[in-house]
Amino acid sequence: MSFSHLGLSDKVIAAIDSAGYKTPTPIQDQAIPHVLARRDVLGIAQTGTGKTAAFVLPMLTMLEKGRARARMPRTLILEPTRELAAQVVEQFEKYGKNHKLNVALIIGGVSFGDQDTKLTRGVDVLIATPGRLLDHSERGRLLLSGVELLVIDEADRMLDMGFIPDIERIGKLVPFTRQTLFFTATMPPEIQRIADNFLHNPVRVEVSKPATAATTITQLQVATGRDPADKRETLRRLLRSADNFKNAIIFCNRKREVATLHKSLLRHKFNAVALHGDLDQSARTAALEAFRSGEAKLLIASDVAARGLDIPAVSHVFNFDVPHHPDDYIHRIGRTGRAGLTGTAITLVAPMDTKSVAAIEKLTGQPIPPMSGEPAARESRPQQASSQDQPAQAERSQAERPHADHNRGERHQARPPRQRHERQPERQAERQPERQERPPQQRPAAASASKPPHVHKPQADHDADSDGSHLPAFLLRPITVKA
Ligand code: AMP
Repeated sequence: MSFSHLGLSDKVIAAIDSAGYKTPTPIQDQAIPHVLARRDVLGIAQTGTGKTAAFVLPMLTMLEKGRARARMPRTLILEPTRELAAQVVEQFEKYGKNHKLNVALIIGGVSFGDQDTKLTRGVDVLIATPGRLLDHSERGRLLLSGVELLVIDEADRMLDMGFIPDIERIGKLVPFTRQTLFFTATMPPEIQRIADNFLHNPVRVEVSKPATAATTITQLQVATGRDPADKRETLRRLLRSADNFKNAIIFCNRKREVATLHKSLLRHKFNAVALHGDLDQSARTAALEAFRSGEAKLLIASDVAARGLDIPAVSHVFNFDVPHHPDDYIHRIGRTGRAGLTGTAITLVAPMDTKSVAAIEKLTGQPIPPMSGEPAARESRPQQASSQDQPAQAERSQAERPHADHNRGERHQARPPRQRHERQPERQAERQPERQERPPQQRPAAASASKPPHVHKPQADHDADSDGSHLPAFLLRPITVKA
């Protein structure tokens, strides 16, 4: 099966040829004809399935007719993170090399001025993160009333990051009659509700999720102490002794840990770069480039910062922290063993991580064996510790308890299981009053003095690229405080 039967234009087919792709992936095969027929599409697919090209290729074909007007983009693609947005731009450049289309990237962390200039020139494809897009719109510098096609990508990640209210606002700014393509890796009820709101009689296209990790990946676990210093020492030992090592991505659960580990590895003379949401855009881009080019051998990253990034040929993945969500484990280790290459994924397991490891093994249906020559991870002591252990146990559980637990009771009950572990005490402290994507002076009026005085609306844990330890959705609900 080739690309020729999908209805794509000759220019697009020529660009696919020169990219060297011979066969459409299942999501491309199933979605492209419907997109070209102007149907709404609900695509359930993860990154790595070729889903970006599934919307980029037909969009290029459709955009060959018509012209852009100043400040009125013809199409809009929403992405949860800046890196994903930048990656979509790259795909437009790759497949659109035979076209003369204006593609603009509107993301936080970079100056408004250049973006504004681009918008003035007229944009065929606008690729944006939600916060910055709304800022431009609220400044009156951008009109979304000419959008013919809207793509909402990684919708479930948008939900995780607290972007759904922004997406809903954007939905009111685009014409009712536009075509919508909606992509998500999972379909929790909240995403189903948004999909129902945004899509009109959609074609549902689902490609199977890689519920098990690729067989080309060797998965191993190594026991380590719970102390971060112990973990760093274990990691260094593993890095120095790794077989067939070329390069590695090292995942941490929190961006603070990413930064600490990065500094520590540099001190120990490792060639490492870091990627997390607190870095400015140029530092993030530079880090990715250094890793992609092979100049840096180690990339230390948080889940959200690294999600969906297309980094080929990684020999090793290390989980410095066991991910809280088993799904994230599959995403993480899927960074290696790509395209038939072999890879190794090594997870550091501290005593308190054994339950999370069991949940991962349940999801993948395969055990993660201990690395040979390494001790197996020991489970942390059960709750009913001996009496002399109790003070330490109490202290530990106090330290480990998510901050939100202060508000036990009905709010705790309402918390969906996926978000149970997310909030750690220090993350609460890191919380910022406003997402970085939006400079404070650009806040919508509704968020400032004109709001009813007794309603507090906690903000999402700042920018589009926070690291997965963001505020759970239930904390984002308005809380009415009695006067
Ligand atoms: P995505 O799921 O969009 O992140 O795409 C993952 C990777 O697959 C990217 O590196 C794409 O360039 C690549 N890709 C997309 N379509 C194809 C195809 N038909 N054949 C081979 N690789 C593809």
